[in-house]
Amino acid sequence: MKLPSILPVGPQPNSPVGDDRFHDECGVYGVFGHEDAAAHTVLGLHALQHRGQEAAGIVSYDSGQFHSERFLGEVAENFSAQDVIDRLHGSVAIGHNRYSTAGETVLRNVQPLFAEFAFGGLAVAHNGNLTNGVGLRRRLVRNGSIFQSTTDTEVLIHLIAMSPLTDVIDRLVDALRQAVGAYSLVALTKDILIGVRDPLGVRPLVLGQLGEAMILASETCALDIIGAEFVRDISPGELVVIDDSGVRSMFPFPKSPERFCVFEYIYFARPDSVIEGANVYEARKRIGAELARENGVDADVVIPVPDSGTPAAMGYASETGIPFELGIIRNHYVGRTFIEPSASIRHLGVKLKHNANRYKIANKRVILVDDSIVRGTTSTKIVDMVRQAGATEVHMRIASPPTAHSCFYGVDTPEQSELLAACNDVDAMRKMIGVDSLAFISIDGLYRAMGHTAGRNDALPQYCDACFTGDYPIPLTDREDGEAPQQLSLLAEST
Ligand code: AMP
Repeated sequence: MKLPSILPVGPQPNSPVGDDRFHDECGVYGVFGHEDAAAHTVLGLHALQHRGQEAAGIVSYDSGQFHSERFLGEVAENFSAQDVIDRLHGSVAIGHNRYSTAGETVLRNVQPLFAEFAFGGLAVAHNGNLTNGVGLRRRLVRNGSIFQSTTDTEVLIHLIAMSPLTDVIDRLVDALRQAVGAYSLVALTKDILIGVRDPLGVRPLVLGQLGEAMILASETCALDIIGAEFVRDISPGELVVIDDSGVRSMFPFPKSPERFCVFEYIYFARPDSVIEGANVYEARKRIGAELARENGVDADVVIPVPDSGTPAAMGYASETGIPFELGIIRNHYVGRTFIEPSASIRHLGVKLKHNANRYKIANKRVILVDDSIVRGTTSTKIVDMVRQAGATEVHMRIASPPTAHSCFYGVDTPEQSELLAACNDVDAMRKMIGVDSLAFISIDGLYRAMGHTAGRNDALPQYCDACFTGDYPIPLTDREDGEAPQQLSLLAEST
């Protein structure tokens, strides 16, 4: 689709109003200087599919014209046709995968968002969450902005438009200085590709190179897929400008202690990615080994809850010497449980997704290893299934501390009241899940597994671990100001 010179920031024909939450738990990608920029972006987004399966979009630029293709659904189902890629002309492109758990996903919220400004066109794709997005939006609406999506990315677009500065980078920095929150974003003008990580570096962003072309990606697995070399992580608080003269780096924000999201290592990132120098798979195995050191139990077999529990279970098994077996088989043709919209379907999803490998379970004392317990839906169903398959004892070991707090920085977790660990101690959870024993890695154990020999208080940079500790390193401005997320839909409807 060719974009008209006056912007469709997001609205699409027949798009229902109703997506009433900010949720941008996503993957971003950017290519500068490659004749197959769009095709490479499709591949990069495909490698980042685990970061968001609800929608995907790409914007490219060529000879005076931006081109945009945005769809609901996964990358392969929408971007494999040659005609779609052919419509995305140009040697520069950015792309985005979108993830959400609640509410409708509508096309008007699919990124990258594109807007025509006084200085020309700009496309933006964002992974993260602005914690003052609702307040900013309220102020912008009061001053005359007309919002057409409910993404916080559009808040940035309006802030860029309102900036009194002239240069596009200065305007973007001006907008981001007003934003509070976690973000890794990529942006594209007709002649530059921009990448930015928030000052604490909560979400990942890496720089890669393919011949002369430069690549930005949420994770290194999206460089590997196109054979690009990993150059480096974009640093917390860094803004990179990529143009014909190369890569320029700047640090336009006040310096803060970095706080990368530890949950990226536990669950969210792909195991073959390397983030901040640590391979995610190895990190998960070390977490599993530490979990075993802290919470050993006599048993016959260690079984992962696939796929996300697998590396931790391998670490657990090799630390204890208890055999590792694939006692639960996952059907790969069902989306992630979390993505199902209603509680009833979520329950069904677990049954659809996993089956017990009875042969490896019957008459055995089983240790089940999973990466996390959120609502407890998965664990309850899996434990039931393992017992029905003939296990004589079931012990559950979790490769993260209890998730007792919601994330407001870009990993979509339910409201705190829906988190099993928020309202129950470990023994109550054990009874609810129906296991003989239940144990979580401690927060210090998690840090030790990540190389912090002194635990959480080690001198090495701390992680964002708010979902486990409730220590939120970035102010939750909207919440402190009493801006409930649902106010957004009222605002959206009234605009
Ligand atoms: P639950 O069934 O609600 O306890 O969810 C726990 C399962 O969901 C675990 O097996 C995790 O692998 C997975 N999980 C944890 N956090 C998330 C998240 N933010 N989004 C999607 N899945 C998640």
